Amino acid sequence: MNLDQPISHFRTQLYQVADMVAELYTETEKQKVFSNPNSLKVKEIFNEPIPLTASSIEDLLHKIKEEVFINSTKHYSPHFYPWVTSCASQASILGDFLATALNVNATTWMNSAAASEVEKQVVQWIGEFIGYDSKASGVLVSGGSTANLTGLTLARKQMAVQDISQVGLKHTQQFTVYASEQTHFCIDKSIITLGIGKQYLRKIKTLHNYTIDLIQLEHQIKTDIAKGFKPMCVVGNAGTVNSGAIDPLESISSICKKYNLWFHIDAAYGGCAANLPDTRELFKGFEKADSVAVDLHKWLFVPFEAGCVLVKDKEHLRQTFKLVPEYQKFDYDAEEKVDFSEYSFQQSRNFKALKVWMNFKTYGQTKLKSAIKGSITVMNHLTKIVEESSDFELITHGLSIVCFRYIGNYKIESLQQINEINLKLVKLSEIDGRVFIRDTNLNGMIVLRACCTNFRREKKHVEYLIKILRDLAKKTK
Ligand SMILES: *Cc1c(COP(=O)(O)O)cnc(C)c1O
Repeated sequence: MNLDQPISHFRTQLYQVADMVAELYTETEKQKVFSNPNSLKVKEIFNEPIPLTASSIEDLLHKIKEEVFINSTKHYSPHFYPWVTSCASQASILGDFLATALNVNATTWMNSAAASEVEKQVVQWIGEFIGYDSKASGVLVSGGSTANLTGLTLARKQMAVQDISQVGLKHTQQFTVYASEQTHFCIDKSIITLGIGKQYLRKIKTLHNYTIDLIQLEHQIKTDIAKGFKPMCVVGNAGTVNSGAIDPLESISSICKKYNLWFHIDAAYGGCAANLPDTRELFKGFEKADSVAVDLHKWLFVPFEAGCVLVKDKEHLRQTFKLVPEYQKFDYDAEEKVDFSEYSFQQSRNFKALKVWMNFKTYGQTKLKSAIKGSITVMNHLTKIVEESSDFELITHGLSIVCFRYIGNYKIESLQQINEINLKLVKLSEIDGRVFIRDTNLNGMIVLRACCTNFRREKKHVEYLIKILRDLAKKTK
């Protein structure tokens, strides 16, 4: 049963899809960013028995437009504030689409020479772009969580005294891992997945600026050694997701050297800003990590999914992940022709590198860096507005994340009361839908957290955010 239609029909549908995409990206600022969907209604739309018979693609495209697009949050909108996310550059959307259509498996060089070479190239560009190492090796993965898991898997392999690929964890000393209490929860998930046990992930207290307390860190490492544990790795934050805090990477690197620990950096969010002239200094020591996780589907504007794990030594990847089945034995030189299946857990892989390549080639690193800096500038503007206002209070600001809260012009009695008002404000903005912002908790304070990894946002948009919040705040009284 051949499922193909005549190519002329397919071509017409491709044009229809192009029109839908163009429409989606028309006047993004005028669209409702959050549709506040009624969960029952959405469930009803997509709750149907498995189709027995065919539907026309034209009907389905219409359904996607009316039911999928409408019930989706618009990450590309300049009014989207709650999380660090991809606003999706046009060039990388095209790259992604073409990679899907070409449908090669980016697993071994044999499967697609071009995909392997493009990936090798973009990984090297990423290493250079973020100022980690222009000779770095690495591999593209689904996102920051997988990149962090991959980095920690390498650490576990390298830090074990015996070959844990062979003998497992039972015969090794109990590992301990260190990260600040502001660290992303994907590190917890990684520790669970790796069988280390969450209680051995030492969450180190942070200072007033939400960066790791180095004295506590070193103290905990010493205590663990004295107890007979095996300290494995410190995870440094290069831009926490809560507040954009950057740990003192240089000092962490020295501690790792002193106690012989693996140094991994979670730069999922901040990595793309690590090599900008204005912010480079904050990331001092970044280049000393043994492994780095960076997301491309955040501040490099590449559509989901795309993350990257970078290492100094590609043998660390191979020693951890290389297994070659009979049907995949090739007689070529692995140095010359890279099989990316040897670099990560995944076997079949889509051609993510093409969208990343399109992004780098279309804009060039100068424009990309300007766009990244633009996010910081626009959020500095928000910070200034907040600081100059009497009804909002700035709590913290790091990179392109601003945490602030509404305190009102009227007398507010307690922390709890301010917390409640800010939670209410978030709820009201969701119902309203013109701007989308969420809260986070910083040391018991509920704060509004505004993020920007979106080159479509301009100063007028953050002014609009404040205007809407002020309007809505009237209803919280
Ligand atoms: C987003 C983020 C992650 C998780 O990355 P995903 O791409 O969502 O899997 C981890 N750490 C930090 C600091 C992040 O910002």
